[in-house]
Amino acid sequence: MVAMPDIGIDPTLAAIDRILEAKAAEMPPRTYLGASILGADCERFVWYSIRPEVPRQPFNAATIRRFEDGFAVEAQMIERLRSVPGIELWTVDENTGGQIGFQDFGGRFRGHVDGVVKGLYQSPKTAHVFECKAVNPKKFEEFRKLKLALPEKEVLAAWDKTYHVQAMIYCFYLEFSRHYLVVSTPGGRDYLSCRSNANNEMGAALRLKAKRILDSETPPSRISERPEHWKCKLCDYREVCHGRAVIANRGVSRYQTTVGPQADREPA
Ligand code: SF4
Repeated sequence: MVAMPDIGIDPTLAAIDRILEAKAAEMPPRTYLGASILGADCERFVWYSIRPEVPRQPFNAATIRRFEDGFAVEAQMIERLRSVPGIELWTVDENTGGQIGFQDFGGRFRGHVDGVVKGLYQSPKTAHVFECKAVNPKKFEEFRKLKLALPEKEVLAAWDKTYHVQAMIYCFYLEFSRHYLVVSTPGGRDYLSCRSNANNEMGAALRLKAKRILDSETPPSRISERPEHWKCKLCDYREVCHGRAVIANRGVSRYQTTVGPQADREPA
């Protein structure tokens, strides 16, 4: 086999990455439960994420660049939608001057939508919660295939559970009957969309789930007892969860208690 040439490291680009990582490390940890993660497969991950004292793996430069691309694509899509005659798109709550969103349980559960849109050509009279997700090409293709295979209103739930949960929470709290999602490739070169109907029963059940996790004194069950499970290998809390980290001044056992039966799922 012919050896591949070493591509080498550009020290200038490497310096950019270190700056990105240093800036991200300065961000204060989140102290509330965000609607965007309530649908994560592992409840224990959600529970850890609202405890700033639990050490999490710092974001690496590749993840930060992905986040930045997501924000840029969202802003670009808002501008593109606003350029369409008849479309109205709001991103600011006129009462607070901040992002449109909700909070519950004394601010311990919160979420902010990308916007609210009205005048979509496929549903001109109905206001929709608007969100934009920039995803990798493989996930974009999965979305495209589901669009071909399913009725539009079933696509989001089949495509991504976490995004669907987020959408249903927003519709529930903000009292909208519809959600409009634009899914884009990185950089916004290609995009598709789907609309979803609100499901208030699901929204109410998710609200209770959020309360249960917020009020829990002990960590919920792990998704797997095996640290080599593919989800655990990718998880920012694997060190503390599977017992290799020590939390200053608190001891680690409180964060490692296992409660309830274990689910051990593999990727679909
Ligand atoms: S390491 Fe695994 S079980 Fe623990 S929080 Fe992460 S995903 Fe859940």
